Amino acid sequence: SKEKGLDFIRTIIAKDNESGKHGGKVATRFPPEPNGYLHIGHAKSICLNFGIAGEHEKGTCNLRFDDTNPTKEDVEYVDSIMEDVRWMGFGWNELHYASDYFEQLYEFAVELIKAGKAYVCDLSPEEIRAYRGTLKEPGKNSPYRDRTPEENLDLFQRMRAGEFEDGSRVLRAKIDMAAPNLILRDPTLYRIRRAHHHRTGDKWLIYPMYDFTHCLSDAIEGITHSICTLEFENNRALYDWVLDNVSAPCHPQQIEFARLNLSHTVLSKRKLIQLVEKGLVNGWSDPRMPTISGLRRRGYPPEALRNFCDRIGVAKRDSMVDMALLEFCVREHLNEVAPRVMGVLNPLKVVITNYPEGESEELDCPLHPTDPSQGSRMLPFSGELYIEREDFMEDPPKKFFRLSPGKEVRLRYAYFITCQEVIKDENGEVVELRCTYDPATKGGDAPDGRKVKATLHWVSARHACTSEVRLYEHLFTQENPNDVEEGKDFTDYINPDSLKVLKDCKVEPSLANAGPGYQCQFERMGYFCVDSVDPDTGLVIFNRTVTLRDQWAK
Ligand code: ATP
Ligand code: MG
Ligand code: MG
Repeated sequence: SKEKGLDFIRTIIAKDNESGKHGGKVATRFPPEPNGYLHIGHAKSICLNFGIAGEHEKGTCNLRFDDTNPTKEDVEYVDSIMEDVRWMGFGWNELHYASDYFEQLYEFAVELIKAGKAYVCDLSPEEIRAYRGTLKEPGKNSPYRDRTPEENLDLFQRMRAGEFEDGSRVLRAKIDMAAPNLILRDPTLYRIRRAHHHRTGDKWLIYPMYDFTHCLSDAIEGITHSICTLEFENNRALYDWVLDNVSAPCHPQQIEFARLNLSHTVLSKRKLIQLVEKGLVNGWSDPRMPTISGLRRRGYPPEALRNFCDRIGVAKRDSMVDMALLEFCVREHLNEVAPRVMGVLNPLKVVITNYPEGESEELDCPLHPTDPSQGSRMLPFSGELYIEREDFMEDPPKKFFRLSPGKEVRLRYAYFITCQEVIKDENGEVVELRCTYDPATKGGDAPDGRKVKATLHWVSARHACTSEVRLYEHLFTQENPNDVEEGKDFTDYINPDSLKVLKDCKVEPSLANAGPGYQCQFERMGYFCVDSVDPDTGLVIFNRTVTLRDQWAK
């Protein structure tokens, strides 16, 4: 299997497939809890579960909402999750909600009670914790452990009927209070909770716990391989215990893999929701968020996310992946597909003194350097232009090859220009350059063979569209913001410069009608996408997706 390049999960599945263990079926599921938006870590799980299903002739993958915790869940999350999975490029075979199984789950619980394998316990949550013991010490049996099946059944029915207060009783599995694996020390299966559920409303007053729900939901759906992250490794024993002790239709195999950790961000809904609620970002889809919807809005293509998930692979040990790898995948894809256009982020006016007054011309410029199928656009050139302020220095150091007094440079696709005069305002700030152009260099080459050392991007002042551009940096200054010093919180590591808004950018006129989601490269400045268009003014707002090169490389 090593030769075939299969990861350890695909190797297990290939073997099961060969041995006919599950009748040649490969059935996976992606089981998010609808308590937040999906993030790039979920993308890894999506690619794995849907990817594996797609690699097998009879492969299927369900989308299942693991919605057993009514207080934290919401339909807004359900909708966003479906949108994100589709956008990632996947479709599910069946759509399920764990809450649809509440009645069946209740029946399985009754089965355990009747078999003497579950009991109603009246200990308080604190007492339950204290009775559980530690890794070094066995636990203590609950005084309610020996209730008869009849008494337990009666109490459980009355729990459902609403006769007892929230938190006053739970249903527990009767396993082993001395089990070395703490999870097996009579785990809670059901609790009483008067909370409105986003799908079942007020019908249920008792809710099943994750460990009881998940394995049975998998079995009900005929899942063959239940792939989850490493923190559930100890829960596997309970997963198997439940399935072995009720009349489950089948026994799926739980397989754990390492969750994705990405540098300079946090991948936990619990933490992401804090950023949203404290207003530290602009909602779940803020382009700085590691959520799938944030990355989408930032301009990250789904192909890049899938490629990233492929590259990081599937391992059994936790590790930290550098954000630079994700950005590399984004660049790699956009380099292939993004049209090249010109946009000046920080404009400096250039007047071409020998260009015919009031005239302009159109230059036919290709949209992509290696993909002629993208065609070209007509770019207006005139005697008043904008160049990037950073491309001029009045008093340049030796290695500065861009524009400075007396220097000649090339304007992309246009002409050579030479800076003749620098105009300043009363504060001494450069506000305009007076340049001459050489008409013989049209297209960008001099007939006499003279060379210039720099090519600048530019836009014609009269024809340019004013745009807003938003530049982003890491949301956190620290590589691992989860690693907090004493007395600090992960939000203390937020990068105050993660968003920079430029209000007076000048972009070429071909972009005047670009709509949300449109992606392009501003030559020399990076990859950008249209975030939105102001409905009143028509102002086009761009997000910088990623720079052209890694600025953070050490
Ligand atoms: P979070 O800690 O962000 O709340 P979760 O595991 O509670 O994540 P779920 O909605 O339960 O979120 O996750 C759905 C699936 O996605 C699960 O199978 C889970 O293991 C997987 N998943 C979640 N986070 C990651 C991650 N960082 N890397 C890989 N898989 C992940
Ligand atoms: Mg979970
Ligand atoms: Mg969680």
